[in-house]
Amino acid sequence: MNIILLGPPGAGKGTQAQRIVSDRGMVQLSTGDMLREAIANGTELGLKAKAIMDRGDLVADDIILGMIREKLVSPECAAGVILDGFPRTVAQAEALDIMLAELDQRIDAVIELQVDEAALIDRIENRARETGGARADDKAEVLKKRLAVYHELTAPILPYYGDRGMVQVVDGMQPIETVASRIDEILGGQIN
Ligand code: AMP
Repeated sequence: MNIILLGPPGAGKGTQAQRIVSDRGMVQLSTGDMLREAIANGTELGLKAKAIMDRGDLVADDIILGMIREKLVSPECAAGVILDGFPRTVAQAEALDIMLAELDQRIDAVIELQVDEAALIDRIENRARETGGARADDKAEVLKKRLAVYHELTAPILPYYGDRGMVQVVDGMQPIETVASRIDEILGGQIN
């Protein structure tokens, strides 16, 4: 089973993805985590990505698609993945469909976490406080940029999947456990 978690920055995609991983033994693919790892390792990709991420823009599709392709073909991902933070553009979504088709796989569910954007700014500010500002992009002004980028480039993915009847909406403003139960209900009927 392959699942996409969609929603603006701070909607709780990472939190829910980690839970699904521990409950269902699936592999989480977070392009944001991969990029942060590249930055921490001081790789050439990390150096390039850091400036882009710090200002809240998107890293180029070809870089992201290369990272995802490498993971999707690995045996650990054969049983299915939870995609968190990817795809983020319609071009990425189209490329993902092609990659999965080559592997004789497909997306089984797209879960959209809907949130109130004013509350998001609070959440991001809390996360910045809790992590001691570990993420340079956890700042209110960068968040506003990231939200604008979400609306311009990522939200168009919703009709891309919605037209195929694949999108399930979950209210991301509910407590973490309630959101988790709702996701379980959605995934419950799917074969792992
Ligand atoms: P995230 O942890 O998913 O919020 O991602 C943090 C930052 O990494 C984003 O603001 C982008 O700069 C970059 N990033 C993560 N995933 C992608 C993606 N699929 N496409 C382009 N840029 C991405």
